[in-house]
Amino acid sequence: MRNCTQFYIDGRWTDPVTPATADVINPATEQVSGVISLGSEADVDLAVKAARCAFGSWSQSSVAERLDLLRAIQAGYAARMQELGEAVTEEMGAPLSLGTGFHVGLGAGHLQTAIEVLETFRFEEQKGPTLLVREPIGVCGLITPWNWPLNQVTVKVFPALATGCTTVLKPPQLAPYSAQILAEILDKAGVPAGVFNMVQGKGSVIGAALSRHPDVDMISFTGSEPVGVQISKDAADTVKRVGLELGGKSAWVILDDDQLAANVAAATSGMMVNAGQTCSAGSRLLVPNARLAEALAAARSAAETVTVGDPLSDVAMGPVVSKAQWNVVQDYIAKGLDEGAELIAGGLGRPEGIDRGYFCKPTVFRGTNDMVIAREEIFGPVLVIIGYDDMDDAVAIANDSPFGLGGYVSGQDRDTAIAIARRMRTGAIWVNGGFDFHAPFGGYKRSGNGREWGEHGFAEYLEVKSIIG
Ligand code: NAD
Repeated sequence: MRNCTQFYIDGRWTDPVTPATADVINPATEQVSGVISLGSEADVDLAVKAARCAFGSWSQSSVAERLDLLRAIQAGYAARMQELGEAVTEEMGAPLSLGTGFHVGLGAGHLQTAIEVLETFRFEEQKGPTLLVREPIGVCGLITPWNWPLNQVTVKVFPALATGCTTVLKPPQLAPYSAQILAEILDKAGVPAGVFNMVQGKGSVIGAALSRHPDVDMISFTGSEPVGVQISKDAADTVKRVGLELGGKSAWVILDDDQLAANVAAATSGMMVNAGQTCSAGSRLLVPNARLAEALAAARSAAETVTVGDPLSDVAMGPVVSKAQWNVVQDYIAKGLDEGAELIAGGLGRPEGIDRGYFCKPTVFRGTNDMVIAREEIFGPVLVIIGYDDMDDAVAIANDSPFGLGGYVSGQDRDTAIAIARRMRTGAIWVNGGFDFHAPFGGYKRSGNGREWGEHGFAEYLEVKSIIG
């Protein structure tokens, strides 16, 4: 049983002002795996006060001091990677190999990237008669989701610290363990009191209190669109900066060439990673109509080879995070069947042989872009394959979405792939794979307004001052 009943405020582990707790459920077993405290507005007040007090000195700290701190955190992080991965698996159900692998690796990567960017970042720049000075914005409320819990915390906390901001982190209620360990790492590394604070609890209480707080200068939020809208409204009265990293319904375009089957298979298994709970997942797979039968066969066989089961065993896919999320996924699968999408693989219910845990079947539909399953973010292992006639049609379908977070193009003709990528209205597009911690990540349209990762991630936390003359 894990215990997250204390908050980290002003450099100390602190009991909540008013005791209240909630169980945390292991999604693979449906058993209680631990307990967290549910904070109140009073806890948020204490954390914000500590962050405000610490801002005076931390905002004036030197780059060398901040680099020293980040390197000390890096040593602590490296020493606890296995534990962090196990925590991720227990809190949100990712297979252990994914938890200790990519989940933890993303956190390590954001930390290393923050160090690299800070080493060369130009906080000051003379432009003609004007001295441009980039200064930390102030006290930042950081609100994160459960799906890549370490990734989302680290991509906010490290750039915020590196730029001289002070922070109050509100981790996801469903997945609080990895954030708790990270807070222990920061504490041990010697983060000055008040520079980093953490309060656990309900979004509607802690998140809302941060969003409305008059002494918070900025909210950086990753999560769902409706909550992003609510935060923006809550933050409006105090004219905060609000960085929003929201959902997606990203298109994956497969070009018509002799790699088509292999590319469809890779995109299908890619969709099932993390049980489909990835904001930038390629959940709409666009294939040439002329090769539809071949594409469907490749997708079916790829989906059917995805192993599902106990995340502590050697499987490709664990459960989704919660009973509520399982119900959402089932409702969308039922909706797809109702609206006449053709079921290619998977379907309703748990995979055969599994009778507990929030496990879904890796599911593939052939549908059209006007179906609900192609328009709304499902956030589960459900792929919709849509046929296109030609490149213009592929681009039109890709762009016909309220979202614009990720995108993918796979095919041998790189010029065509890049031409399509240029025409897609979305924040990040992967052409035949690739990965870059320095590439900005964020959305067009209803996928948000922020840009995290690398140097752009620093800009989120900085004000720009002009000193003229
Ligand atoms: P969510 O919006 O329900 O919750 C996100 C966080 O906001 C949680 O910590 C939650 O407690 C908090 N919250 C809830 N209500 C709040 C309120 N009224 N005020 C302030 N905070 C509140 O999202 P989720 O279900 O945890 O995560 C899934 C969503 O996150 C998906 O839509 C996914 O696409 C999105 N996401 C986006 C990105 C990105 O980078 N764009 C990355 C990962 C996940």
